[in-house]
Amino acid sequence: SVELRGIGKSFGTENVLKGIDLSVRPGEFLSLVGMSGCGKSTLLRMIAGLEAPDRGTVSIGGSDVTDMDPSERNLAMVFQSYALYPHMNVRQNIATPLRMRRLPLSARLPLIGGLFAPSQTLREIDAAVEQAAETLHIPHLLDRKPAQLSGGQRQRVALARALVRSPAAFLMDEPLSNLDAKLRAHMREELASLHRRLGATFIYVTHDQIEAMTMSDRIALMSEGRIEQLGTPDELYRSPATLTVARFIGTPS
Ligand code: ATP
Ligand code: MG
Repeated sequence: SVELRGIGKSFGTENVLKGIDLSVRPGEFLSLVGMSGCGKSTLLRMIAGLEAPDRGTVSIGGSDVTDMDPSERNLAMVFQSYALYPHMNVRQNIATPLRMRRLPLSARLPLIGGLFAPSQTLREIDAAVEQAAETLHIPHLLDRKPAQLSGGQRQRVALARALVRSPAAFLMDEPLSNLDAKLRAHMREELASLHRRLGATFIYVTHDQIEAMTMSDRIALMSEGRIEQLGTPDELYRSPATLTVARFIGTPS
């Protein structure tokens, strides 16, 4: 599980997060939604360890990770921009998180329940890459460079790269927003299916209410630095706690 307790964060005079409490259950698909600028990405980056809270704690699987380095958290982050390495082919892109672990520095860090030890061989890395590629239906693309791929294919590579370390949780920040409507609808199905197959925790930031309503076990709606309502899509639909929630559910994006 991922637990946030009393998370607060300001940038200069702007109080962005004003005390966030949130428990994400193991294996849950939780969507984080809310208006632009409400602090969704900041909160996700905090769970990943890319941003430090001013107040509060983050714990993962019962351990306090608030002061831990991102590489020690056994999480995978997928960004809107995919952030693939342009000079590497797909195979090398997917292998990057595992190759990093072979560095002497990573050997000194405690690994929290990762499937692969830092001592894994290159052959084992290859096998893990092949398996991640198969899960995302891209084995035929392994020798291509990112520039030779479509948007949807790049997205799959980014997901395969996230998958390859067997993380306890996936953090995704609007991963489908660069895709056209048709591909987005298709990838929605694929992500939901991936979640079912892996049984991993997904924390999914989006401002697309169709994505949130169709994929989530629960939705957390953020507004002005707080969580306004947390519930199943059905609960939010049937009994929105505030006008902001009603507007999110009711407005086509
Ligand atoms: P969007 O839906 O547009 O992606 P968001 O909910 O993800 O929005 P954040 O990116 O978390 O919003 O930003 C929340 C607020 O914090 C914004 O007002 C933003 O300008 C501010 N902010 C975020 N990161 C920084 C930073 N590093 N320095 C200063 N201000 C920041
Ligand atoms: Mg954002």
